[in-house]
Amino acid sequence: MENSAKILIDMDGVVCDFVTAICAAHNRPDPYKNGFVGHDMEEAWGMTRDEFWEPSNNTEFWSNIEKFPWADSLLQHCENLVGLENIAFCTSPSKSPFCIIGKTEWLDRHFPKVSRIFTKQKQFCANHMTVLVDDTDSKIQKFIENSGLAVKFPPPCELDINTVLERITAIVTCITINAEGFREM
Ligand SMILES: [Mg+2]
Repeated sequence: MENSAKILIDMDGVVCDFVTAICAAHNRPDPYKNGFVGHDMEEAWGMTRDEFWEPSNNTEFWSNIEKFPWADSLLQHCENLVGLENIAFCTSPSKSPFCIIGKTEWLDRHFPKVSRIFTKQKQFCANHMTVLVDDTDSKIQKFIENSGLAVKFPPPCELDINTVLERITAIVTCITINAEGFREM
């Protein structure tokens, strides 16, 4: 069946464990396990943004982040739904010039066949045929405001991967039905 839906998959917090990596780099405990609910971890640690990002200012940090155990099944599910040619990682590079190099190494090692888009402005990729899977509310919101579709990826402590996979399936199914209806008009 023809299916022109596209799926964009965030990296940090979805397929790779940035939080654990940055905690290890600072030798500090995970603030989210102590009730912190914010987005900016430097607030929890009482440090400046520059201090927070300093240990990630090298290729190795980004290249060596652990892959989450559900990452392979998430990618396989998306590939089964829309085909490899219609999925891409869509990830925001940090300020560090080493981030894109390290993330590219990571992707070449773990998902060499999957396309990748590096942008802080994910909403530029938004349209009514494209689903963004992302853990950051502000990125989801902007994507939807720009006519995109989205699935919020929950934090690891709340994750039921099967529920996320079902939501992706449901949205892709809606896109496909709408697209076929449009073609028949
Ligand atoms: Mg993320």
